[in-house]
Formats: sequence, C-alpha cells, structure tokens
Amino acid sequence: MKPILPGAAIGVLGSGQLGRMFAISARRLGYRVHTFSPDRDSPTGQIADVEIDAPYEDLDRVCEFSSAVKVVTFEFENVPAATAEAAARCALVRPAGEVLHTTQHRLREKTFLRKHGFPVTRFERIAADGDLARVMPGFGPAILKTAGFGYDGKGQYRVSSLEEAEAAWNDMNRQEAVLEAVVDFELELSVVGVRGADGGCVFYEPSANAHVKGILDVSTAPGPLAPGVVKCAHDITRGLLEQLNVIGVLCVEFFLTRSGELVINELAPRPHNSGHLTIDACITSQFEQQLRAVCGLPLGSPEMLRPAAMANLLGDVWAKGEPNWTAALEIPEVKLHLYGKTDARAGRKMGHLTATAETAAEAEEIVRSARSRL
Ligand code: AMP
Repeated sequence: MKPILPGAAIGVLGSGQLGRMFAISARRLGYRVHTFSPDRDSPTGQIADVEIDAPYEDLDRVCEFSSAVKVVTFEFENVPAATAEAAARCALVRPAGEVLHTTQHRLREKTFLRKHGFPVTRFERIAADGDLARVMPGFGPAILKTAGFGYDGKGQYRVSSLEEAEAAWNDMNRQEAVLEAVVDFELELSVVGVRGADGGCVFYEPSANAHVKGILDVSTAPGPLAPGVVKCAHDITRGLLEQLNVIGVLCVEFFLTRSGELVINELAPRPHNSGHLTIDACITSQFEQQLRAVCGLPLGSPEMLRPAAMANLLGDVWAKGEPNWTAALEIPEVKLHLYGKTDARAGRKMGHLTATAETAAEAEEIVRSARSRL
C-alpha cells in the first residue's frame, strides 16, 4: 500500500491530550486532522481542522467522519468496539479494532498475555458467587480490579482476606473482576514501542515511573536499569507488537520485581503519558511515530538527545488559583505543556513539565523543583 502523504486528512477517535499532541505533530508535518468525540472545544479539537462532537454510539456520524479521512487512529482505547467496526467499514483503521478490543478489558488482556506466554502476575476471574471463596484462600495479598475500565475511579481494591475481597467486590456492584497477586516490585517502568506498516519496530529507552494514588506522577528516562533488563523489556515489547499485529504505538507497563524479573502490568495501544518526555528529549516523539506508522511512512529515530524527566500537572495544582508559570519557566531547561482544559478538577491531567539534563536524576530534580514553584 502506498503511504498516506502530507496534505491528507487523518482521523482521531477521542479528543484528549494524547490526540492534541498527535495533532500538533501531524499539523507540523502538513497533515489535516479531524477528531471525533462527544466533547466540544476539546484538547484535540482546539488543534484539529475539524472537530465532530457526537456520541461514539452514533455510527452514522462515525462513518461520515471516517469517510472524510485517509486513516483513522485513536487516542482513547475505551472507544466501543462497534465504533471501531463502523470506522473500519468506511476507512483504514490503525491499529486495528481487534487491538483495542483486547487491550480495553483487563481480563481479555491478561488472558491474551498468559495464553501467548508473556510474563504476567497470577490472576483469577471473579464473575459469580463463590468465585472469591474458591480462589482467595492461599492467594496472598491481592488487588481486585474491575475487568472493564472506566468505573469512576472505583476500579481497584487491595485485599488480603476473603472478607475484604467480598466487601470490595460488593462495592464494585459484583461486576466481572480480576483478582491479581500484588507484585513486590523494585520499580515500575514502561516501554513505548512502535511498529510501522512494513513490520519494522523501534523502541524508546524505558522510563522509570513513579505513581501517586494510582496516577502517574513522574517519569524519568533512561530509567536506572541494567542493559539486560532493557533488552528484555524491548524484546517483550517487540513480541507484543508482532503478536497483536499493531501498526502504530504500543506502551507496555512493567513491574521489575526484586528478583530482577519483568512482569507486565498493562498495555496501551497508543502513545502513553510516560512517553510525553519524548517530545522534548528524543529525535522523534511518540506522537510523530504514531503518525508515521499509521500513514505507512518510515519511522523516525527514537534516540534520546538528552536524559529527561516529566512531571504531570493535575488539576490539584490549581487549588490555590492560577499556577505561577513564570517561576517554573525561570528554569531554562524546563518545558511547559498545557492541554487547553479549562476545568481544573482534582486528579485531572491538565498538562506536564519536562526537563532535560546531563543525567536522568538531575532532570528529575529539576522538574520536581519546577513543579514545586508553581
Ligand atoms: P493499573 O491501573 O492497573 O496500572 O494500576 C495503577 C498502579 O497500581 C500501578 O501503576 C501500580 O503502582 C499499582 N498496582 C497495580 N497492580 C498492581 C499489582 N498487581 N501489584 C502491585 N502494584 C500494583
């Protein structure tokens, strides 16, 4: 198939910050961008040429949107399967809807990983009365998670007894869930990998990720990892890109256990928050790679020009009014990215800061200090 060249229109399902940064890359390369989501004046819509606001269930509008572009990609993996199917009837969709289907549901994703021999923590499906009583004894410290995503943050509970597990499952309305063993990890890392239309892959340096209340807080790259661990993480990511037949970007989140093993936590078939630092630190950003991959262009170099760290800016930063941007930007190595969202709710991702430096540790210190000045 011939590549889709600059000047063509690209469709993005979803309209958040990932679509926004994708659209900025696409516009820089001379493409047109159309976005589809239920929102108006969205982070992506502010950059796109065309913003369609309609429910994902409006399949006629989905088809109309898809017919107007050369390829459809997505920035939001919870797009309903029927929406991805409708898009695929009217346009090329990359990555394909099956990738979405597998990765938007924890249980399907974990079952896929286990079936294909990828390292994943022990897990059990909880779907009916009696399941917890059967599997909980002898399981050890566990996390009960909803099988599907998007349950108003009520998705995860740490449990160590049958009573706690039953209470947690009641709290999630006894919907289908996954009980997984707690991993005693040394650190969390992620790899962004990209697979082009010709099957060729490139990989970024793994990021080391620190979370606060389950939300990514700071990513640092290159992470403090032995070369063997980096190679193993890249090999697993390649295996997943190939097994899932991804044309596009895939982020693999891993735990590095205290005994030095990699265990997959979850997959995201799109650019990832931990890869935002690639915009300021790498020859080619994860967003430009997504564009290149879905358009069938050659992939760019993922090489890092400088070690970097990224700190998320959640709505909480606005608690005392407008943040002091000038104070953060006084540090010349710091770059500010804001997503054009007006409603700064606690926990909402509003933007991020990136710092580059001689070492990743130094970059982390700078970016944390910049954020504290806000
Ligand atoms: P998730 O939304 O599943 O990625 O979980 C969010 C965060 O919760 C992860 O980044 C970890 O810090 C923690 N977490 C999730 N699952 C586990 C697990 N099985 N063992 C230990 N920590 C976990």
